[in-house]
Amino acid sequence: MTNAAPRTNWAGNYTYNAGDLLIPASIEEAQELVRQTQQLRALGTRHCFHGIADSDGIQISLEHLNAITLDETARTVTLGAGVRYGDLAVWLHSRGYAIHNLASLPHISVVGGVMTATHGSGLRNRNLAAAVVGLEILNANGDLVTLTRDANPDTFPGAVVCLGALGIVTAITLQVEPTFEVAQTVYENLSFDHLKDNLRTIMDAAYSVSLFTTWQDHRATQVWLKQRVDDGVAAPAEFYGATRATTNLHPLAGHDPVNCTQQLGVPGPWHERLPHFRMEFTPSSGAEIQTELFVPIDMGYDAILAVETLKNEITPHLHVTELRAIAADDLWMSPNYRRDSLGIHFTWKAEPEAVARLVPQIEAVLSPFGAIPHWGKFFTMDPRVLQRRLPNLTRFKNLIYHYDPKGKFLNEFLENTIYAG
Ligand SMILES: Cc1cc2nc3c(=O)[nH]c(=O)nc-3n(C[C@H](O)[C@H](O)[C@H](O)COP(=O)(O)OP(=O)(O)OC[C@H]3O[C@@H](n4cnc5c(N)ncnc54)[C@H](O)[C@@H]3O)c2cc1C
Repeated sequence: MTNAAPRTNWAGNYTYNAGDLLIPASIEEAQELVRQTQQLRALGTRHCFHGIADSDGIQISLEHLNAITLDETARTVTLGAGVRYGDLAVWLHSRGYAIHNLASLPHISVVGGVMTATHGSGLRNRNLAAAVVGLEILNANGDLVTLTRDANPDTFPGAVVCLGALGIVTAITLQVEPTFEVAQTVYENLSFDHLKDNLRTIMDAAYSVSLFTTWQDHRATQVWLKQRVDDGVAAPAEFYGATRATTNLHPLAGHDPVNCTQQLGVPGPWHERLPHFRMEFTPSSGAEIQTELFVPIDMGYDAILAVETLKNEITPHLHVTELRAIAADDLWMSPNYRRDSLGIHFTWKAEPEAVARLVPQIEAVLSPFGAIPHWGKFFTMDPRVLQRRLPNLTRFKNLIYHYDPKGKFLNEFLENTIYAG
C-alpha cells in the first residue's frame, strides 16, 4: 500500500521530501523493503516539527504492526511500532497496569516518542524512553536484531533514543506497573519569586507538575498538579500564593477546556489525568510550532529569568510556555542524560518567520546553562555547540556505523545536527 507525496508533518510546517510512503502489512514485508531500498526512514505519527523523519528515498509506516502482549511475570509490555500511547494506555489499564508517565498528547506513536526522548513531567519521573527495556530493530541489511537492557548493557542505552538512525524499530518492550489513579488540581497565578528558592520543591509537589506562563507579569498563569491517589491527595485553597481553580481550565486563557482532561481534584485512571488533552479529541493538524530546551533543574530559576528578559519579543508570538521537570536517565542521546532537568517549552503560533527569529535568541540566553533542545521540536542551535553538549556523541556515531555503515537511514536532519561541522 502506498501513499504518494507531498505529505506534511502534523503541524503542517514541514513537507517531507521523501517519495512514497509505504505501509508494510508485516515484519517480513518491512524487512523486504529495507533490503530492497537504498535510502529510507520510518515515519511515526508525524508529530515532530522538522525533518527528523524525512528521507531522500522513501518513508515507511509501521501502523499495521499493532499487536500488544503483556508479560505479567516480567512486568513488561511488548508492542508493535504502530501503537500510539493513548491506545496502549487504555489496553494496559483494562488489564490492571500502567506505564509511569505520559506526554501532554496521547496521539503520539510510542516508538516515535521514544526515538526523541519524549517526556511528561515529574521531578522523580524519567522521560518515556527510560521505560524501554527491549527493542527489535531491522538494521540496514534487513536483519531483525533484538536488544535488551539486560543482555546488551553496553549498547542498549545508546540504542533507545536513537533518532531513528539505527534502523526500523518493529517492536518495543516497556516496563509496566500496577495501574494507579491520579487527581488533577489547577492553581492560578504563581509568582516566579517563589521559584527562586523552591523550584525543586514546587516541581516535586505532586507526581507530575506543569507550570504554564505567557512570560508576562513574572508569574505562572497556571500550575497543574497531578497527584497519585495512593500518595494521598491534598488540595488546599492556596499553593505558594496561587489560588485553586474552581472550574476546569484550558492552559491557554480563554480557550474552552472541553478537550482537556478532568481537573478539580476528581480522581481518575492515570491515562485520563497525566495527559493534558483527552484521547477522544483528535487534532488532525495544529496551528502551532513547538520548541523546548532543557537545562539542569538547579539552574532552572536563573534560566527562567534569562528567558524572561525576552518576554516582550516572545509573548506576541506565543500561545503558551510550559515548564516541566524530568528526572535524570542513562540514555546516551537523551537531553536528560545524567541531569535532572527543567524543560522550558514554547507552543508558538504558526508564525514560522517570527519563530525562526526568536528561537536563536532564546538559545543564546540559555547558552550559559548548557541548554539542550528537544530532538522532536524546532531548534536552530549551531551544530558545533549542540555537539559539545552531547557527551556520548562519539560512541553514538560508532553505534550508528555498526547498524548502518552505508547511511541507509541517514537524512538531512542528522547531517545538519550531529554530523555537521
Ligand atoms: C501536539 C503535540 C504535543 C506534544 N507533546 C509532547 C510532550 O508532552 N512531551 C514531549 O516530550 N514531546 C511532545 N511532543 C513532541 C513529540 O512527542 C515528539 O516529536 C515525538 O518524537 C513524535 O513522535 P511521532 O511518531 O509522532 O513523530 P515522527 O516525526 O513521525 O517520528 C519521530 C522520529 O521517530 C522515528 N521513528 C518513528 N517510528 C519509527 C520506527 N518504527 N523505527 C525507527 N524510527 C522511527 C522517525 O524516523 C523520527 O526520527 C508533542 C508534539 C505535538 C505535535
